[in-house]
Amino acid sequence: MPTHIVHVALQTPSHSGVGDLLSYASERPLSPGTLVRVPLGTREVLGVVWDADEAPGELPDGATLRPIAGVLEGVAPLDAPWRRLVGFAARYYQRALGEVALAALPPQLRDLRPEQLARRLRRPAKGAGDASGTIENIALTAEQESARARISAEKGPFLLFGSTGSGKTEVYLRCVQEMLEADPTAQALVMVPEINLTPQLEERFAGRFAPRFGPGAVVSLHSGMTNPQRLASWLAAHGGSARIVLGTRMAVFASLPGLKLIVVDEEHDPSYKQQEGARYSARDLAIWRGREQGAKVILGSATPSLESWHASRPPTAEDPEGGRYVRLHMPSRIGAGALARVRRVDMNQQPRRTVFSAPLLQAITERVARGEQSMILLNRRGYAPVLHCVDCGWKSDCPHCSAHQVFHKTDRTLRCHHCGYTVRVPFHCPTCGSPDIHPMGKGTEQLEEQLGTLLREVLRPDRTPARIARIDADTTKAKGALEAQLAQVHSGEVDVLVGTQMIAKGHDFRRITLVAAVQPDGALFSSDFRAAERLFALLMQAAGRAGRDAAYMAAQAVHGTQPEMWVQSFHPQHAVFEALRKHDYEAFAAQQLKEREEAAMPPFSYQALVRADARTQEVAQGFLTAATAAAHAAQLPGLPDGTVILFPPVPLTIQRVANVERAQMLMESSSRTTLQRFLAAWQPILQATRSQPEHKGLIRWLVDVDPLAI
Ligand code: ADP
Ligand code: ZN
Ligand code: ZN
Repeated sequence: MPTHIVHVALQTPSHSGVGDLLSYASERPLSPGTLVRVPLGTREVLGVVWDADEAPGELPDGATLRPIAGVLEGVAPLDAPWRRLVGFAARYYQRALGEVALAALPPQLRDLRPEQLARRLRRPAKGAGDASGTIENIALTAEQESARARISAEKGPFLLFGSTGSGKTEVYLRCVQEMLEADPTAQALVMVPEINLTPQLEERFAGRFAPRFGPGAVVSLHSGMTNPQRLASWLAAHGGSARIVLGTRMAVFASLPGLKLIVVDEEHDPSYKQQEGARYSARDLAIWRGREQGAKVILGSATPSLESWHASRPPTAEDPEGGRYVRLHMPSRIGAGALARVRRVDMNQQPRRTVFSAPLLQAITERVARGEQSMILLNRRGYAPVLHCVDCGWKSDCPHCSAHQVFHKTDRTLRCHHCGYTVRVPFHCPTCGSPDIHPMGKGTEQLEEQLGTLLREVLRPDRTPARIARIDADTTKAKGALEAQLAQVHSGEVDVLVGTQMIAKGHDFRRITLVAAVQPDGALFSSDFRAAERLFALLMQAAGRAGRDAAYMAAQAVHGTQPEMWVQSFHPQHAVFEALRKHDYEAFAAQQLKEREEAAMPPFSYQALVRADARTQEVAQGFLTAATAAAHAAQLPGLPDGTVILFPPVPLTIQRVANVERAQMLMESSSRTTLQRFLAAWQPILQATRSQPEHKGLIRWLVDVDPLAI
């Protein structure tokens, strides 16, 4: 009997490299993109038909192919643009095709048997398209209208460079609306960096579009959803009933047959880069997908990544081409008060160990007394980063990592933030027995405690004591905890909010008139060349939290209230703080880009990392050294003429985590294409090197293309 041969992408257990399609037999022809269940070893797994032989064929004598086990009827095949996206991502980020394809599908699709899925599909979806109400459109400002008109008329991609509160979201909403109204099958993808920002945005989108396109028109896709919810959203997007998908980075892989518009909000946010498996950048894939699928792409930010800023440079005499993106500028804030005045405190002039300088404490006190809110940022959770013994110098090092265990006072533990190893705080020094053991440095728990003491006598306008709250990864572990805590701040039950960077993003707290970064200096001297860029973005975003509500600010102005951003620093004149003081992103970007260009760093070059994990540094680095030698011996693309530079292997900053030694090496090239050709050619060599007996202690290796942290 003639057999149809199909080649299926599936997740195989080993890191088997690119091109890992397995062939199966099918009684009937199956088109590419069809979801199937196939036997793999003793299991049955989900796969995607990637290729099928044109005509049914007879297998060569003696050859046998296992038959596919079933077809997921009722789910249309994944279309060619989706398959091209997955194929590109697998190639570009040096991962197996099947791994990327399967990771891009909702987890439940993998586990449901065809008959279970069929039952799920029979459930009526929330009706979309059956509403046809109108939308009560607010009038755009001149800046918004100009941005909207250019997005409508030009091809893009667009970088919407707009201050916090300049109305970027309103522009997204309008562009989405225009696109969906013009074409009844059009779909839009809107991405945001954080899961905790999606409910707010979801409300805003659903509120706007449900009356017009039906209640099922807006769906979410992020890792905070349950598996059934994710499957439902995915099916709605795949089937076309969802017109708008709101999601985090994973949503870039959603199947969207009608995709016409992609928005990447806060495009500079590092969370768009996946940090495990296929280490993709959802922002970069959005640009690729938009171009390939003919969808417009809007990247939005008040502090764009230097990559996007450079890519949107206007043409000049020396550079008549300019960048590939269209830059749209919206400098004015709408409905918000003036931008925060930046106040710098020179910590060299303060008594040693000062946490809250006197002028900052005074400013917070005055605000509590007036019923206004303050927000205090410190990017370190716990009570203190390390505990030490005064007598013998013992420090609370993690036995499994090259890092300290952090002192958490609330539950009296020492916890390693890298491997999770937790012990009770000792009463005496474990080395010399001295009781004289003390915390060194500050974490958010300690700030909260100190503020409690410092503000003990301070009363609110209704003569009740000041209320202090803390939000960080420790206080928000339980499901729904973050939402509940944010709601408390919103409703005014909190006067001073202490937290890590998770409180600086996106939230719209009405009564915040002061934001303070108490110890931001660490990032200034980091070995990571992107640290300053990241700090600047965080501080600008934090500053944008103060004085967002113009009406409230006007009411408070009688007391002399101005929105303020405080920075305590030992280097108050540093370029980052100078630019912050002037709210001058452009000057900051120009200065950073000049440095990057002189040092041939991204965006003026392209980078990739290979990381190796092993029981010892020697094995980890030995593997990288051997693979480098093999690459040179094979004269891989870019090596003979030096267009690809391989740097020597080095230990990671935190070189040991959970008893695993970690090493990495950096590759750099001025040509993205050459670097890609080099990586593709090197992949099999790395695999061959790994299987040599002298690299037996190697645990794993991985490639990170366009790494964010070096
Ligand atoms: P961004 O996304 O740039 O931070 P938003 O789109 O959230 O800014 O807008 C900030 C605030 O201004 C929101 O409360 C929004 O409702 C309001 N807003 C936006 N555009 C307009 C407009 N054209 N007229 C009046 N209010 C507006
Ligand atoms: Zn001791
Ligand atoms: Zn540890």
